[in-house]
Amino acid sequence: MAKTIVIKIGSSSLTDPQGKLDTKNLKRVVAEIVKLIAQKTQVVLVTSGAIVCGAEKLGLGKPKTIPEKQAAAAVGQSRLMRQYEKAFEEFGVTVAQVLLTRDAIADRERYLNVRNTLNTLLAENVVPIINENDTVAIEELKIGDNDNLAALAASCIGADLLVIMTDVDGFYLKNEEGISYLVPEIKEITREVEEAAGHPSTQLGTGGMITKIQAAKICSDAGVHLAIINSRKLDLLTKLAGGEKIGTLFIPKVSKLESRKRWLAHGLKPEGTLMIDPGAEAALIKNGKSLLPVGVKTIKGNFQAGALVAVTDETGKELARGLVNLSSQELKGVIGRKDVGEAIHRDNLVIL
Ligand code: GLU
Repeated sequence: MAKTIVIKIGSSSLTDPQGKLDTKNLKRVVAEIVKLIAQKTQVVLVTSGAIVCGAEKLGLGKPKTIPEKQAAAAVGQSRLMRQYEKAFEEFGVTVAQVLLTRDAIADRERYLNVRNTLNTLLAENVVPIINENDTVAIEELKIGDNDNLAALAASCIGADLLVIMTDVDGFYLKNEEGISYLVPEIKEITREVEEAAGHPSTQLGTGGMITKIQAAKICSDAGVHLAIINSRKLDLLTKLAGGEKIGTLFIPKVSKLESRKRWLAHGLKPEGTLMIDPGAEAALIKNGKSLLPVGVKTIKGNFQAGALVAVTDETGKELARGLVNLSSQELKGVIGRKDVGEAIHRDNLVIL
């Protein structure tokens, strides 16, 4: 049985048909989490629902503008936490609120700080309850959805399993007759899987299946299993943790990326793109070399030295990510040259 589990609950799982906070389902999930804790499992909870919960209180319906959403999140986050605090307290379990933003993850020092804090809370038998800090997050810099946030948290602490509790039974594909079927296990995120993820589906949450597949990729690189299960069905969490096959389980890659490379691959947003030629592609992928300016064909975006950039082949397929040694301006001046050091040093490069 897994030792550290991150559990993500979506807004749709915490909302009743009237759009109100579904405290009954919240309490039921908490009771299941407490059972896991009693079996010596460390649990981190990632919860959505701040915006829904605040909008309900403010009578805003579905908030549309950014200030409305941020105001709703400010009101809703404390209401949501109060419910969790009450529910866990019934079992004598202490909780902690952890509000994260993209920059807390993008900055390596702050990221390590987040990891230390989460590990300290777990060591103290406290359940960290994470959400994005929606009230202060700038839209362009947001992680944006809690599936990705939960996967980043799971990767950050090196969890064994991420469980995404949602309003469907798992991940579905269509057979040749066009009939949907639940996929019990996914070993590789193929193009078929990505295409089937389609478009965001639930009304209340942010992501739908696309963000769950993004989360599965982050988990895969981090050696974390990811399960998608139905949050409304009784005891599924307990059964899953007990080893039963429930919902859809994504199996991670055998060789996970080491921690800093995971952070490079998923913690930051690329600020530009370098398109490279086939020679450089072979050097990077087959020979494990650094990227030299001689292999760079085009540069997109304006970035400073030290920024994270995506590296693509000539068709635009992303091959790698890395921290550049030169700004976009400087790099443009040395494109095609062999004698000017690395564009991206191997240590700062991750192959995807
Ligand atoms: N952070 C948002 C909230 O608590 C939810 C994001 C999501 O649904 O993924 O309301």
